Amino acid sequence: FGASALGQLSEVYGELTLAAGAAERLAEILDTVPAIGAPDRPRALPLPPRGEIAFERVRFHYPTRPEHAALHDLSFAVAPGERVALVGPSGAGKSTVLQLLLRFYDPESGEVRVDGVPVDAVDPETLRARMALVPQDPTVFSGSILDNIRYGRPEATEAEVEQAASRAHADGFIRALPQGYATLVGERGVTLSGGQRQRIAIARAILKNAPILLLDEATSALDAESERAVQAALDVLMKGRTTLVIAHRLATIRAADRILVLEDGRVAEQGTHDALLARGGLYAQLAALQFGAGVDLAGERQVAEV
Ligand code: ATP
Repeated sequence: FGASALGQLSEVYGELTLAAGAAERLAEILDTVPAIGAPDRPRALPLPPRGEIAFERVRFHYPTRPEHAALHDLSFAVAPGERVALVGPSGAGKSTVLQLLLRFYDPESGEVRVDGVPVDAVDPETLRARMALVPQDPTVFSGSILDNIRYGRPEATEAEVEQAASRAHADGFIRALPQGYATLVGERGVTLSGGQRQRIAIARAILKNAPILLLDEATSALDAESERAVQAALDVLMKGRTTLVIAHRLATIRAADRILVLEDGRVAEQGTHDALLARGGLYAQLAALQFGAGVDLAGERQVAEV
């Protein structure tokens, strides 16, 4: 389910990016409204987005499975600029958390808030303009590389697209393609590798410049060079943003400020990698299964760098 659910998310990426444009238009309209009172003071501006996430006792089941709660009174908060890794067994509710944040579904009870505002109190476009999503297996549409990246912010100039690509460590492979940024990709064009598509998606997100980053880390292995490039691109993207990442890689998990371990739609444990290993609970079991000998279960030290 997880994979297909996030497949759907990637399908709506267009909606997310269109939302950015809508929010900017809205900001323009708001700019024309005169300030009320206090003419000697600068006009009050809306609070800048801080990138804060809160789930408060969120209970949810998918409409097709009324008998099964995907989230059970789930509560957690992510502070502005914090990097939180979501881990947990398959079916624990990790993708569901992202779906509710983006408001593809409403909870049965409880509240999801972004920047202190309940997500059902803002229009979806404004909400989605606050977040950039990098799905596990990003799609490219038929068109040029330039158009594919510009999707992140339709009004971006060519120079801005190239700058984003360069920061996403995608510029090198793009320039090596027959027509560079004009190269057609997708159905009738050049086929990009998984790592290349990920860097296109990262470039889109850099261009979008939203305060909250939602990341579904790829499970499929990339070759070592592509892996390094993607990691470097993600480091650029995550800097200064609130990040909620469905994490599969030990490097990502260790770099997180906090790990939320989900089990059966609840937070089973939370803490840093080392603290959770030392605790010897669910996280330690998952880490042993997933990373094997790379992790010392006593939590005293890493046996091997992964
Ligand atoms: P994975 O690691 O496998 O991606 P996950 O932790 O992301 O799993 P979710 O995909 O959020 O888990 O699923 C949580 C629960 O909701 C599971 O029991 C799953 O079977 C169910 N579920 C997920 N998507 C749907 C859907 N579209 N319709 C019905 N049930 C769903």
